[in-house]
This record gives sequence, C-alpha cells and structure tokens, in this order.
Amino acid sequence: MLHPIEARLDANRSNVPVRGGGFADDSPWHSNAACRRDEAGLFFAPSKEPTAARLSREEQAKRVCGRCPVLLECREHALLQPEPYGVWGGLTAAERRVVLARRRRREQELREAARRGAQVAAAG
Ligand code: SF4
Repeated sequence: MLHPIEARLDANRSNVPVRGGGFADDSPWHSNAACRRDEAGLFFAPSKEPTAARLSREEQAKRVCGRCPVLLECREHALLQPEPYGVWGGLTAAERRVVLARRRRREQELREAARRGAQVAAAG
C-alpha cells in the first residue's frame, strides 16, 4: 500500500496504475492528509540512515502527523494493512508493531474470557 504522499505523486501521473492498488480512488481520509504538502522523504528511511538522523526525521514526520486531520484514519489504515515501513498516523513501524501486539493480546484475552464464560454457563 502507498503512503499518502506517494499516492499523490502517482495520482499526478495520468493513466499510471497505482502500485499495490492503493488509493487509486483517493479516498476521503487520504485526500485530507497533511503530508500531502510535505516532503515524502520525511516519512520513510533512506538506506543506511544513522540512528540519530532517523530519530530526528521521525520526530519531524510525527510533528506533521500531529496536525493532520486524518491521523486516526491513517493510523488505523497502517495497522490494518499492516504497513511495514515508514511513519503513518504518527507512529513508526516499530511503534505500530507494539500496538498490534497489544491488540492481539487483548483479543486473545477476550476470547479466553468468552470461552470461560461459555463453560460456566454450560455447567450452570
Ligand atoms: S497522519 Fe501523518 S502519515 Fe498519515 S496522512 Fe496524516 S500526515 Fe500523512
């Protein structure tokens, strides 16, 4: 799936299929992205980026996300895909992995609680 910035760039090329099929219809959340007005390079790491440079770049990207009206939509999109690279919805790829792991744990706990509840009901 494309980052909103890349999607914008692709959309500006006439009759070029959008890579991965993403955002060809320029969905509403995507069309309001704050990053459409910023540099694409801010959101993705160049190869062999030193750690200090990465942290600084990610902070800058997050500042753009912080004033983005579609932050939640973007974040959810990146979590659901899931998007493996770049800053999306104010979260880095590593931060999204943590959120996804928490969600999986919570879902597992809910499933176990439901299973235990069903057992109690069946026994009662
Ligand atoms: S939340 Fe960040 S990455 Fe997502 S659309 Fe907005 S500015 Fe772009």
